[in-house]
Amino acid sequence: MEDYVVGGHILNGDDFELITGYVYVEGGTIVEIEERSNIKSDNCAASGIVMPSLINAHTHLGDSIIKDVPFSGLDTLVKPPHGLKHRALRDAAFGVLVEAMHKSLLDALVTGTTLLADFREGGIFGVNALKTAMDPVKKVQVMILGRPNDGRDYIVEDEIDTILDVAYGLGVSGSRDFSSAAIGAMINRARTRGKFVAIHAGEQDNSDIDSAISLNPDCLIHMTYASKHQIESGIPIVVCPRSNLVTGVGSAFRHPPIGEMLQATTVGLGTDNVMLNSLNMFAEMEFVSKAFLHDDLKVLEMATLNNAKILGVDNDLGSIAVGKHASLLIINHQSNNLFGTENIVNSVVRRARPDDIVLLTNGG
Ligand SMILES: [Zn+2]
Repeated sequence: MEDYVVGGHILNGDDFELITGYVYVEGGTIVEIEERSNIKSDNCAASGIVMPSLINAHTHLGDSIIKDVPFSGLDTLVKPPHGLKHRALRDAAFGVLVEAMHKSLLDALVTGTTLLADFREGGIFGVNALKTAMDPVKKVQVMILGRPNDGRDYIVEDEIDTILDVAYGLGVSGSRDFSSAAIGAMINRARTRGKFVAIHAGEQDNSDIDSAISLNPDCLIHMTYASKHQIESGIPIVVCPRSNLVTGVGSAFRHPPIGEMLQATTVGLGTDNVMLNSLNMFAEMEFVSKAFLHDDLKVLEMATLNNAKILGVDNDLGSIAVGKHASLLIINHQSNNLFGTENIVNSVVRRARPDDIVLLTNGG
């Protein structure tokens, strides 16, 4: 892996403190951050705004096979086993699924994302399709969160083991989509093997949240209608506000209650189903800042360091620090879009677009 230097306005460390200088990368690792009063771009592989690459903590890449879905409500679109998504996935040939997911991974890269956590439907078939789609796209990593085939009220232990052999963990569609015995068994299996467990909860009301919390997952997805008490369980939460708007369950400023969540636990950000939204995390950040938080630094943390913490990889990813993996995004602060920017964090969160990216590194 070639060594290189990038420089400019660096959002440095876990508090994203703005400094000017260089970031030195050797063998794919950040080895030095040097502060300078000004930098020479001739010395750099790229220069501009230097920030950690984006992490997308909740996706469903499989439904990349469907685009332009109607505004027809959550259950019609995604509820297992008969929602639009599940019908399309059941009918999809392996090659079709692979090609659509492969295109989405390339899109994640051009929109600045190097790590995704994906809820992978379709049992081992779905997991293998994603593995095949990932193979040629070396620069992006996917944490596969598999699940047994949807629509069954029992689990096949061999199937769970085969999924867990290749997956980062389990992505459970909801605490009521299987019998409590079946969910308990699959989660026990994952825990025994030291695997990650995530579960959708509280997407359209709060009736499945307590049962999801009782399973003690590593993170809860959505929590659109979580009460203060439920938020205070302290389990990390990944919100997907653009998705909530498309499925008709969210509302700007109120649902999900992101501000309250941030006071109680670690809150991350995801784009959810590809059929509902693009994988563009810049769009997600802009939306969350303008419609919910009015706090750009907190939104940037959600899309980088918080997501890394929730996924258990913040020792290596999520911020710019010596010893961490060099997953870096260099943004052109002189682009037509960003020209004249004075508040770097504000510009990155509320204004920057994928076409402002000069370079994306993931190690090399
Ligand atoms: Zn989801």
